[in-house]
Order: sequence, then C-alpha cells, then structure tokens
Amino acid sequence: MTLNLGVIGTGAIGQDHIRRCSHALVGSRVVAVNDINQDQAARVVQQQGIEAEVYADGHRLVESPTVDAVLVTSWGPSHEEFVLAAIAAGKPVFCEKPLAVTAEGCRRIVDAEIAHGKRLVQVGFMRPYDQGYRALKEVIRSGRIGAPLMLHCAHRNPSVGENYTTDMAITDTLIHELDVLRWLLDDDYVSTQVIFPRKASGALAHLKDPQIVLLETAKGTRIDVEIFVNCQYGYDIQCEVVGDSGIAKLPEPSAVLLRHEASLSQAILTDWKQRFIDAYDVELQAFIDGVRAGRLTGPSSWDGYAAAVAADACVVAQRSGAIVPIEMPERPGFYAH
Ligand code: NAP
Repeated sequence: MTLNLGVIGTGAIGQDHIRRCSHALVGSRVVAVNDINQDQAARVVQQQGIEAEVYADGHRLVESPTVDAVLVTSWGPSHEEFVLAAIAAGKPVFCEKPLAVTAEGCRRIVDAEIAHGKRLVQVGFMRPYDQGYRALKEVIRSGRIGAPLMLHCAHRNPSVGENYTTDMAITDTLIHELDVLRWLLDDDYVSTQVIFPRKASGALAHLKDPQIVLLETAKGTRIDVEIFVNCQYGYDIQCEVVGDSGIAKLPEPSAVLLRHEASLSQAILTDWKQRFIDAYDVELQAFIDGVRAGRLTGPSSWDGYAAAVAADACVVAQRSGAIVPIEMPERPGFYAH
C-alpha cells in the first residue's frame, strides 16, 4: 500500500521533503499540500511534477480522507495546532522541529497522544539517523571506551542572518545537540549553565556569539557544547566522547584528502543542508515504513518535549549566568524504549 501524504508548509524544508517522498524514497506519494501562500504551494506541485491537491487550509488537509499521514513543515509557531489536529483525526504525523515552540505546547501534544493510546508522532530530529552518530552510539553501547565521562561538542555555522538572536543559539541551533546527546548517552539533563567568551568580530551588535553551554546529566556526564554561528570557515559539527578507557569521536563527513602544492587538505562543508542530507532520507523512510507497519520508532513527542524543557532552562541560564536546574518529569511508560 502506498502511503498518501499531506504536507503543510511548502517552504525550504517542505519542498525538500516533498521531493524526497515523491522521487527518492519508497512507499509514499504526496497527494495534498497546503501553505499560507497558496500560489507557492501550487508552484511547488508544478515544479515537482506531482499530482497533489492544493488545500487552502491545513486543517481541511488533515481531515481529508485522501490523506493517510501528515508532514508538518510550516513555521514553528503553527506546528502545535496541526499536530494536535492530526492526533484528533487519528492520523500519523511527522513534525519538523520544534514540535511546539514552548515546553507546555509539547506537553499538550504528549498528553493528547497518550490519550489517543497509540504513537502517532515522529519529530524531525534527524541526527539519530546519521551514520556517524549511529556508529558513535554503537561504540558507547559496546562498552569499548567504558562509561562516558565527558563530551566535547561544537556546532559551528559560517554566518547567520540579521534576524538570528542570542536565544536562537539555543532554540534553533543547540536544540539538535539537546536531542541527539540524550539519545547518544541514553540519559537526561539535570542542569545547565551558559557562558560567553570574548565576542567574535563577525557577530552583529545584538548577538552574543560564541557561547558555551555546559550540561550535566543524571548519570553525572559533563558536556560542553560550543555554539559559534559566525565562525566563517564552514558548517562544522563535532562530538568527542571521553570514556573511562578510551575516546570516541564523531567521524568527519567523507571528503577527498588532497595532497597539492606542498599541503595536505580536506574540504569542510559550508551548507548545513549537505551535512545531514542522507539522514533526512533515512528519517523520512523510517516514518513511512513505521506508519505502514503500524509502529513508529523515531524521535517521539516525549523527545520533542524533553528537548524543549532543556532548551527553556538553557535560555534562562543565558540570561542569568547561573547554573539552572533542568527538571524533567519522569518518562511515561507509554514512551518506554
Ligand atoms: P520556511 O522556508 O519559512 O517555510 C515555512 C513555510 O510554512 C513558509 O512557506 C510559510 O509561509 C509556511 N507557513 C507558515 N505558517 C503557516 C501555516 N499556518 N499554515 C501553512 N503554512 C504556513 O522555513 P523552513 O526553513 O522550511 O522551516 C520550516 C520548519 O522546519 C521550521 O520549524 C524549522 O525549524 C524546521 N527545519 C528543520 C530543519 C532540520 O534540520 N530538521 C532544517 C530546516 C528547517 P510564509 O513564508 O508565507 O510565512
């Protein structure tokens, strides 16, 4: 059975996911699209050569009997209402991050899904589908480096637009680390502190950049994440796990090692879209396969909620400079691994 998808939001990532689900992945087709800008939605349907109906209203799309499952790729503040609508209609929904813009909003989704009685939501955290992170998790799981004691991580972008604000370093950038490091360590955060080094020359007046986020987990692992969004040289994601008896490092994306003009070099990516391009394919294929098999396994509403709770505490820590506790309610049995 081919899974008929409805996509809400036909901007950058929406178009990319429509292309994936229509032309690259197996077992799905896009039969309905909606965007606040209807002309753009119609243009996307034409450009991608798909036979999809353009809906004037995202809620009508969710209710449509031709739609089996929904992708929410509109802007963040609209996610909650569409995910709740999909749950009310009993339809599986893949929601780009953030699941909702507040932890309370994520909790409403968690509660609605539990009340429905079956998992319907997968959140668009793609890093757990990245081959490098999966290999790193396997090394930790195997016990070869012993218990993880410390993690040194970095999230660097060459530059950001003028609308990027200091708290977006947490809510837009660190949010990916907040999700993937919980998953990597199978642990939860208990506290955070944010410190600001000397300001980068490329950062606009309103932006504090770089930042260092310090996290402590329930098992006592200490994590430092450098966020540097005007680093100039490339899009660079680093993660080094220092264990009891060894160190494991996230592999670099594959690139040719060049010996030329008396130097040895390797290109670094500059576009974030390229860094996890395969992981996006794998995460959406997992959603399609999970829906068809009646069992979703990817990042859950609970993971979306946990990332939001931690992000809220990090934003408080940015403003206060203090060590801020992260109070994570107990994971409901519904979301047991
Ligand atoms: P974008 O290019 O601005 O696209 C969002 C689209 O949604 C726009 O066309 C927007 O229309 C439309 N929209 C806004 N409100 C809507 C509503 N109520 N109903 C229907 N359509 C609506 O943004 P994007 O870069 O694609 O990002 C979309 C989401 O994906 C964001 O939450 C972002 O954080 C997430 N994202 C995740 C990743 C990842 O790595 N997982 C990467 C990129 C983006 P207007 O432009 O007319 O407002």
